[in-house]
Amino acid sequence: MPSDKALAREIQGEIEKATRNRVAVSVRDGIAWLRGHSSSHDAALEAGHLAGSIDKVREVVNDIVFPGKMRFKPPRKVSDELTGRKFDVVVVGGGVIGLAVARELSQFNLSVALFERHNDLGVDQTTHSNAMIHPAIQAKHGTLRWEMNYKGNPMWDETARQLDVDFKRVGTLIVAENAAEEALLPYAVNVAIKHNDPEPKLLDRAGLDSLEPGLAPNVRKGVLIWNTGIINVFELLIACAENALSNGLSIFLDTGVIGVQTEDSAIKAIDTSRGTVKAGLLINAAGLYADRIAEYAGDRFFTIHPRKGETVIFDKSYQPVRTIFAPVSIAAETEETKYTKGGGIIPTTDGNLQFGPTAIEVCNREDVSTTAEGCDSLFDKFAPVLERLKPEYEKPDKGKIIAQFAGCRAATYKEDFIIEPSKKVRGLVHVAGIQSPGLASAPAIAERVREIIREERHPPVNSKFNPVRKRQARFSELGLKEQGELIRTNPLYGHIVCRCENVSEAEVVRALHGDIPARSLDGVKRRTRAGQGRCQGGFCTPRIMEIASREMHIGKEHLLKSEGKSYVLRGRTK
Ligand SMILES: Cc1cc2nc3c(=O)[nH]c(=O)nc-3n(C[C@H](O)[C@H](O)[C@H](O)COP(=O)(O)OP(=O)(O)OC[C@H]3O[C@@H](n4cnc5c(N)ncnc54)[C@H](O)[C@@H]3O)c2cc1C
Repeated sequence: MPSDKALAREIQGEIEKATRNRVAVSVRDGIAWLRGHSSSHDAALEAGHLAGSIDKVREVVNDIVFPGKMRFKPPRKVSDELTGRKFDVVVVGGGVIGLAVARELSQFNLSVALFERHNDLGVDQTTHSNAMIHPAIQAKHGTLRWEMNYKGNPMWDETARQLDVDFKRVGTLIVAENAAEEALLPYAVNVAIKHNDPEPKLLDRAGLDSLEPGLAPNVRKGVLIWNTGIINVFELLIACAENALSNGLSIFLDTGVIGVQTEDSAIKAIDTSRGTVKAGLLINAAGLYADRIAEYAGDRFFTIHPRKGETVIFDKSYQPVRTIFAPVSIAAETEETKYTKGGGIIPTTDGNLQFGPTAIEVCNREDVSTTAEGCDSLFDKFAPVLERLKPEYEKPDKGKIIAQFAGCRAATYKEDFIIEPSKKVRGLVHVAGIQSPGLASAPAIAERVREIIREERHPPVNSKFNPVRKRQARFSELGLKEQGELIRTNPLYGHIVCRCENVSEAEVVRALHGDIPARSLDGVKRRTRAGQGRCQGGFCTPRIMEIASREMHIGKEHLLKSEGKSYVLRGRTK
């Protein structure tokens, strides 16, 4: 084993050779600390990745300064209303991981509070994901990411059933276009088996036709990895929250964690933007800011570097595939896909096709901007595939793209998940670096955290825990008779507000008064789909504003698109 000093020199040498930048490197307990200046963001990233690629390095803290590096702005303190409250456990982060963990912990007789800095759930990574329950084939074998992926994937049937969330196993279909690619298919089957994806299937043309009709004549063989799923992500977040609330969780939105107090190296209190609460356990599920929470607690040992992904979504009238569909040429890994899958052709549970996501390292963790280049690169990569392999279907048409969105993945330089009790601070559990396939892995991650807490604290069981949550009816999915009955009980079901997605006024009202009420037009959109259709809110926005203004008892000029100062109306025109 090289000493820490020798390891630091090795890392420094590698970085200098590759980037021609001289940075200071030190190593302690397997953690590499990088400091100094780099000429560019790319050089600083490369330094981090080089350090992370060395096996002996456990994690990397990258403090290299480069031109354009963003300053971190913590959430602002706004009140003291929570000061004096006590909880057994605080979960930081209302994304899928924080919520899944909080739900899992509600199986114990513990008072659990979840703090989320935004005014809604999952608006950093989770709602910007592609909603895919990945098979484990693409995760690096032997990593924690892979383990959580292969363990989490099969748990979704039960989880989605308990939470009453739309979930379908559509499968990943890899097709060969020529004899050379056909020869690679058995290899794909073996890799899937090695990664614990159950029973991948080699298909002949008849098998392919039963799954994906209308394939080009040269496509004769393929592999089906059937366990790939798709899920309705926002419904899942709401479902997890509602179920955990009914089992005793307290959720505080618009509440950022701004500090952590420890005593004798143990968690004692959590400072939030709304005051300080006492707690002995802290679950760090803060996604893109998990390294900041670790720093607040005095246990900083990794850096999150945001990797942006853009996705385009097509109108429902364009539905060329049923599976997650890829030719061998795309399914095979390339340099571009070193740290991610490199995007795909992915259907959604709502019937819209997605192309995406891209993978671009960015400086700003909150960069959700969409770009013409992102759209073009996705269209240019995937449209020819569909045109070539699905010739009997309508040609892909950019005019059918109805929306584009982006979000950043919370990657560490080891590119693996961190799910462990802190080595320095008692009562702190890190659930960090949860980039893709974090959604697919969520049930296994939550279970792992539950077991960490069980082993450390032996909490009593909550005998009243009920894992089941029932969702309320969606008007558009009901038959005429059931729709008529609903309208008789509540005439607001008879007012269709969003004609693209067939959303009624009653559903918008419900979204504004639910257990986790919508606080913005985006919040209504996520809960009801009003505004997610072909016209993207062109027709329904004014109507929804009237309803929201009435139900929230605020003037329309105070209505937000998302949060902060995102007022929909800027001023009077006349
Ligand atoms: C473009 C893209 C596509 C993806 N596609 C897939 C996919 O198809 N399948 C898949 O399995 N995975 C996918 N992923 C990964 C997946 O989305 C994430 O792994 C998962 O959502 C992580 O959930 P999380 O709860 O850890 O993070 P987040 O959803 O980011 O939640 C963390 C929360 O912590 C909050 N927070 C941060 N700091 C504080 C603070 N100080 N105080 C209070 N709250 C705080 C944030 O506001 C945030 O809401 C994708 C990710 C991206 C970006």
